[in-house]
Amino acid sequence: MTQRVCLIGYHEIGLKGRNKNGFERRLRDNLDTALVGLPVEKARILASRLEVALTDDTQIEQVGQRISRVPGVATVSLAYKTNRDFEVMEATALRALREAGPWESFAVVTKRSNTDHPETSIEINRRLGAHLLAHAGGKVDLSNPDVRVGVTVAQGYVYTFTRKINGVGGLPVGSAGKIISLLSAGIDSPVASWRMMRRGATIVGVHFSGRPHTGDQSDRLVVEIGEVLRRSGGLGRVYFVAFGELQKEISLLCPPDLRVLMYRRLMIKVAEKIARVERAKALVTGESLGQVASQTLENIAAIDEAAILPVLRPLVGNDKQEIIIEAKTIGTYELSISDHDDCCTLFMPRTPETHARISAVVEAWELLDIDRMVEDALATLSWRDFPGTSYRSPKPWHTPTGESGWSVAQVAAALPPETLGS
Ligand code: ATP
Ligand code: MG
Repeated sequence: MTQRVCLIGYHEIGLKGRNKNGFERRLRDNLDTALVGLPVEKARILASRLEVALTDDTQIEQVGQRISRVPGVATVSLAYKTNRDFEVMEATALRALREAGPWESFAVVTKRSNTDHPETSIEINRRLGAHLLAHAGGKVDLSNPDVRVGVTVAQGYVYTFTRKINGVGGLPVGSAGKIISLLSAGIDSPVASWRMMRRGATIVGVHFSGRPHTGDQSDRLVVEIGEVLRRSGGLGRVYFVAFGELQKEISLLCPPDLRVLMYRRLMIKVAEKIARVERAKALVTGESLGQVASQTLENIAAIDEAAILPVLRPLVGNDKQEIIIEAKTIGTYELSISDHDDCCTLFMPRTPETHARISAVVEAWELLDIDRMVEDALATLSWRDFPGTSYRSPKPWHTPTGESGWSVAQVAAALPPETLGS
């Protein structure tokens, strides 16, 4: 019997002690979701690793790549699973080595997980090493080989592999609660969302577009970005708010240099209302210290002053260049740089405030009828679900009326009586 399987190693889950089983089950379920449509059997939990068996061996590379993007996965070995007959082990090691591309030196690295196999790891290394030398040539180099032939001896089976893909690491999505992401169509916020998914959070996006003063280009782009983010199993839904009228109102009432801060504070208030319905415990943004005018320490403080929930900023200490590299890896970069209207540039003054005084911000804020403006924003709400994730929509909104908006009354009725963040 020879079967092709992806052998999945994790790191942080292994540190979870008594909660380990729950984390393993979550990872298993997330893998099943991520692999829908690919030729695989259901993922299985083994002692301290997981296994996904292929039903079409030719697609193992594609399956391995997909698995490697799932949060919680540290390594994916593209393995052969066989019985423990000596000849079978030797033939399989040779087969795996021959597939490893060009090499001059190799090493056999065996691990045994509590099993009744008669040989020790060192004995297996020696036996297989001798067989490979005799049939494939080359030389053995234990310290810096071109190829490592991994051999994992488990109860009843042996896994043999030369190809190992690094996974994204982190924790399985669904193990850390829900976070509302302020999701623009820019480069940064998709990366920030992705980082929190990798720490196990389920993300619910909120996108503010300049509609009706702009088109719906940015909304459509955010849907495309959402399709990319969903592959990690961490994006459940994105809400869309038509923000243009409210921005106009702000621009008429508030000092021009504080407009962007007012937009951002109002976004926070709307996002918090949605967080309450979703029972999300925090917000996340793509802000990075000093990157643009609105992201100075003073302005970050001026934004946070409006917030009740924690506002997470996972990119705060990153350079733009680092963020761009990450966006390319995730696959959102090309979408983020395509042409779209950004609602923040609507009614933009020539000189936005870079070092806002809180007192001036609060004074301008008091000119606005915030409760009514939040209601107006919610009245424009529509949403898009990204099925195939661990996301559960809030109970009162289980049967959405499609992508059309809700009335304010519907939203208000849907809000549970608890206070924010409970
Ligand atoms: P990004 O690339 O994420 O748009 P940015 O560098 O362009 O970020 P800003 O435009 O100042 O920075 O936005 C800072 C953060 O505010 C964004 O990362 C995002 O979290 C949030 N944000 C900005 N505009 C929107 C929007 N239209 N809808 C939702 N969130 C937004
Ligand atoms: Mg932006």
